[in-house]
Amino acid sequence: MDQQSLFNVSPPQWQLDDQGDWLAARIAFATAPFGPYDYSIPTEFETTLKLGARVGVPLGRGNRKMAGYCIDIIGPQHPDASTVNPAKLKPIANVIDAKPLINASLLKLAKWISQYYLCPIGQVIETIVPTGVRNQSGTREMLFLSLADDVIKNIGTLKLSELQKSIIYTLHGTVQDWTARELAETVGCTVGPISTLRKKGIIIATARRVQQKTHEIPAEKRIDNLTLNAEQEQSLSAIEHHIDADTHETFLLHGVTGSGKTEVYIRAIQKVVQYGRQAIVLVPEISLTPQTRQRFRARFDRVAVLHSHLTAAQRAWHWQQIAAGNVQVIIGARSAIFAPAPNLGLIVLDEEHDGSFKQDKAPRYHARDVADFRARQQKIPLVLGSATPSLETWHLAQQGTYRRIALEKRVLDLPLPDVATIDMRVDFEGRKRFGPINQKLRQEITKTIADGGQVILLLNRRGFSTRIQCPACGNVESCPDCSIPLTHHNIGNKAVCHYCDYGIPAPQKCTECNNPAIRFSGLGTQKLEANVTAMFPDVPILRMDTDTMRKPGSHEKALARFRSGEIKILLGTQMIAKGLDFPNVTLVGVVNADTALHLPDFRAAERSFGLVTQVAGRTGRGEKGGRVLVQTFDPENPAIVAATRHDYIGFTAQEMPQREELGYPPFGRLARLVIRGEIDSKALQTADKLAEEITKTNEEFGLDVRVLGPAPAPVEKLRGKYRFHMLVFSNQPNALQTVIARVQSSVKPIDGIQWIVDIDPQDML
Ligand code: ADP
Ligand code: ZN
Repeated sequence: MDQQSLFNVSPPQWQLDDQGDWLAARIAFATAPFGPYDYSIPTEFETTLKLGARVGVPLGRGNRKMAGYCIDIIGPQHPDASTVNPAKLKPIANVIDAKPLINASLLKLAKWISQYYLCPIGQVIETIVPTGVRNQSGTREMLFLSLADDVIKNIGTLKLSELQKSIIYTLHGTVQDWTARELAETVGCTVGPISTLRKKGIIIATARRVQQKTHEIPAEKRIDNLTLNAEQEQSLSAIEHHIDADTHETFLLHGVTGSGKTEVYIRAIQKVVQYGRQAIVLVPEISLTPQTRQRFRARFDRVAVLHSHLTAAQRAWHWQQIAAGNVQVIIGARSAIFAPAPNLGLIVLDEEHDGSFKQDKAPRYHARDVADFRARQQKIPLVLGSATPSLETWHLAQQGTYRRIALEKRVLDLPLPDVATIDMRVDFEGRKRFGPINQKLRQEITKTIADGGQVILLLNRRGFSTRIQCPACGNVESCPDCSIPLTHHNIGNKAVCHYCDYGIPAPQKCTECNNPAIRFSGLGTQKLEANVTAMFPDVPILRMDTDTMRKPGSHEKALARFRSGEIKILLGTQMIAKGLDFPNVTLVGVVNADTALHLPDFRAAERSFGLVTQVAGRTGRGEKGGRVLVQTFDPENPAIVAATRHDYIGFTAQEMPQREELGYPPFGRLARLVIRGEIDSKALQTADKLAEEITKTNEEFGLDVRVLGPAPAPVEKLRGKYRFHMLVFSNQPNALQTVIARVQSSVKPIDGIQWIVDIDPQDML
């Protein structure tokens, strides 16, 4: 069967005992673009083959053996029965997994992801099931001993030494899983006599896979529940109502920064745990995880934390624990939405607006939408929390599809911090004298440190200088493989491409005209660090960006030093803007609010508004209050103005009409196609062909799909490949999928050209 006929299949509820006189298994292949294909199930496998297990099957003319996932079991009563021709099927060769790797509800989820995001189901399943689980990482095969039947009954008739008898009685007398070594130690002999008994068939050894070691999360000091304020109580009871009633609802928990959203999540989860069920909590960044982990571990006994720094064996161990129902709360980034909790009771997405919830390789799923599907399917509540909700979520809340519950005030009646902007256009002289930190911001930093407070400085650009340019010929040093200017990093004195791994020693002269007076300009976090250090030589400063946070555990260490008060100024990229809760931070400085404002992306204003609001929210969390200074070259920009007023609703009021007018999300549905190849004319030709096919197919189906483009992508060249993109719009549900799925199967692959489909794209570059 092909993708097209898979498309409208309702999720099967087929049970093995409904079998008729034939039985077929539908098998999906992990990495292959083809399939799923149907196979017959030989009688010997009828009871052992489970939905979601892997099997070995013969493939193609040569009957090459391939492994695949059983995604459906079909008999004469199955709604899909007519698509199967039982007489023509090849039989399954063997069953690989005795226990399914993926349970029935995750399999349904996989099918939905495959259809919605237009990705082969085998590839989706490989994303859901961690590699370590697939190849049993961290487990070891061991032999366990038992007595053959009737040994004890017939012991009188066997010729045995006293030692051998002693071995047999030890084995018989306990229920322990004995290994040969343990048994030998207990009896006080070598393994020799045990081996002899095995050879005689008196002792039987069975192989079983066991976990080598456990990976428990260390305990934290217990914390008692806080007394909730009225807004928190109201929000909690709205959620609890659905937990008690066992019904689905998607909530937008819209709470300003510091309003105590996490406390509401924790209390709702306590309720879920009382019912013996599990909760999943998704958080955007690994850097948020240490604090979040501690907060949850202090309230719950059995917590699993899934993040990208886990080894395959650790991940596999957590997965098994979760699947066995041994875990109450699962905390993790995007992929934790696939946790195999057997009796899920609640899903929480904290900072739901965050871009990291969208995966940038196939399947290009958005964890928020996957969570929504999973919560509906399992009839459980979903809580989306944010101070700056995505406009998609906001729109659904406005329409009543989601239910908004609001925390308008900070906890303990703390005020939101004062935000002032500093107009960098008029401060040219100052910049020459003091560098990137304006005099006013400098004075505030001095004062804050003198008062015993701490400072957060945000600059969302890493590296030292962001631009290397020749003043004589104008040449900008760029990556030879990407259409991206190189960034100067002072560590190792290199010029590197932030998109690929390309790096060279920083050029001493222009590579075009040999002019030695080459200029390094543009501000990155490394240069900012150097500037701030020069300005405050006695103040301990720490930089946090992906360059300093490479090693596992480095976030944790860095944040602990800041929390203890040892570090006075924390500076870094957006990773310091989110979630951190440090009451002693009384000043936040945004060094350049405009870094993302003018990118060719329809979400540029939304992202800038969100980032400034989020980082501003890091201050004023304690008794000492807090203030925020925002440096900008565009102080009248509506997104910046709204952020300085903490005015989310005001921001939506001016942003939403613009989106509506252009038919952009959340008003229209959007897919992005990116076509890339080493020969640009060939890539463009393919793009044109795809646009044409989409238009034609749309007419055939009578839908409303429109194509914008193709045009060169904003990043025209990446890793040596030219890139074109087009945007595909529609207002009808599933229209994009219907049309693009058809085009995926009808347009033959073209040599040297790849094209990808991104449904609900976040990345427009
Ligand atoms: P948000 O996620 O909304 O920014 P948090 O959940 O991090 O806010 O809460 C901010 C701080 O307020 C935390 O230190 C938390 O312990 C504290 N807090 C939350 N609820 C209460 C409450 N009802 N009373 C006192 N402190 C609270
Ligand atoms: Zn590059």
